Amino acid sequence: MIQIKRLRSTDVGFNDAVEKLLAFEDAQDALIYATVSAILADIKKRGDKALLEYTLRFDHLDATAVAELELPHDRLQESLRKLPVERRDALEYAARRVRAYHEKQLLQSWSYTEPDGTLLGQKITPLDRVGLYVPGGKASYPSSVLMNAIPAKVAGVSELIMVVPTPGGDTNDLVLAAAAICGVDRVFTVGGAQAVGALAYGTQTVPRVDKIVGPGNAYVAAAKRCVFGIVGIDMLAGPSEILVICDGKTNPDWIAMDLFSQAEHDELAQAILLSPDARFIDDVATSIARQLEAMPRKTVIRASLENRGALIQVRDLDDACAIANRIAPEHLELSVGQPEKWLDKIRHAGAIFLGRHTSEALGDYCAGPNHVLPTSRTARFSSPLGVYDFQKRSSIIQVSESGSAELGKIASILARGEGLQAHAMSAEYRFMNLTERND
Ligand code: NAD
Repeated sequence: MIQIKRLRSTDVGFNDAVEKLLAFEDAQDALIYATVSAILADIKKRGDKALLEYTLRFDHLDATAVAELELPHDRLQESLRKLPVERRDALEYAARRVRAYHEKQLLQSWSYTEPDGTLLGQKITPLDRVGLYVPGGKASYPSSVLMNAIPAKVAGVSELIMVVPTPGGDTNDLVLAAAAICGVDRVFTVGGAQAVGALAYGTQTVPRVDKIVGPGNAYVAAAKRCVFGIVGIDMLAGPSEILVICDGKTNPDWIAMDLFSQAEHDELAQAILLSPDARFIDDVATSIARQLEAMPRKTVIRASLENRGALIQVRDLDDACAIANRIAPEHLELSVGQPEKWLDKIRHAGAIFLGRHTSEALGDYCAGPNHVLPTSRTARFSSPLGVYDFQKRSSIIQVSESGSAELGKIASILARGEGLQAHAMSAEYRFMNLTERND
């Protein structure tokens, strides 16, 4: 019988119990960091040679040069052609929806002119070159390709370089087809810390990028953390999370399966139910026990639910919203009547799924919004991956001649206050010479 924590928000010690539930040791394993640092240093020093050696060692590929690890463009198109029609249609359908959603996120340049002719603004520029890490060690994730590549392309990134490990040389047609659909420019079959290093530092064959996005295992995450600053990175993703708020009127089997859908990711994933209805919580617990046995990933689901899962009885839906804000989950389902009524009360969540028919899984694949979301309570201060992650903002300042006198005086006072004479004089020159030059 599966043992999931049962809590009541009215219990003494509830706050401590929640803190304990959320405590999560970020696996910053010293050994992984040591391995990754050595690989990165080697890639930086020896470029292609090191990249080839690590790829042969970890992914058991048969190649004599990194150039052989680049897939030609027609290989991607061929994968797309080879797909069974149903899968190709589903992938293209999902891509269309993800693109349409992300097109709404495009930031535009803006400016305004003040009465004296001074112009101020913000110029938006897409990143030049982005590296997309697609995990491929143990499973393949075509949906990750869509979710990372489409916002980059919508932003106008000029070149998108994808890396994907292919252990034993086994490429995955769905992943390559997704790359073809998204217009990925180049694909290298390399992975792990060595791929992250190649993208960050550049090698003779792999071009250096400006930002690296995409999920991966502990080696990939550690490598991204190490190269941050040399390149941008998207985020450091923790285990998946789902929090369901239910008024007790949704089918308990649906809710149990929604909890499974994140629990099946890995043993550290977190699935929590909040409901004011004790009978309903019992029904979900019964459904979990009944449905679990039929799940192919039941061992992972069981471990995840027993490790970090919880069924929590709350006072009412207001109480549920307050607890949800404290947890700041990656995914939040509001499985209640009139969910829009409660939306205003939710302040911290990566993605919010409204209503009984909106299963979180739809957001993972095809609803449109991005499935790369803040985890480990970082939704308190960060947002889903989006087009804005691939656009930069430059400030624009064009001061008119009369504006330079007014602003110059203020700047001069403040600069002298800071003891920075060159700053002060640089501003003063503009207005002190104004009359002279005009004569
Ligand atoms: P991966 O591509 O992340 O890692 C494979 C690479 O790891 C290998 O090529 C190798 O270079 C490196 N590696 C393996 N063992 C090593 C060792 N002992 N020393 C040095 N390097 C080593 O693929 P994976 O392993 O299948 O992991 C994929 C991860 O991505 C999973 O943890 C999965 O949960 C996660 N993921 C997350 C999301 C998300 O949205 N958060 C989506 C998809 C996948």
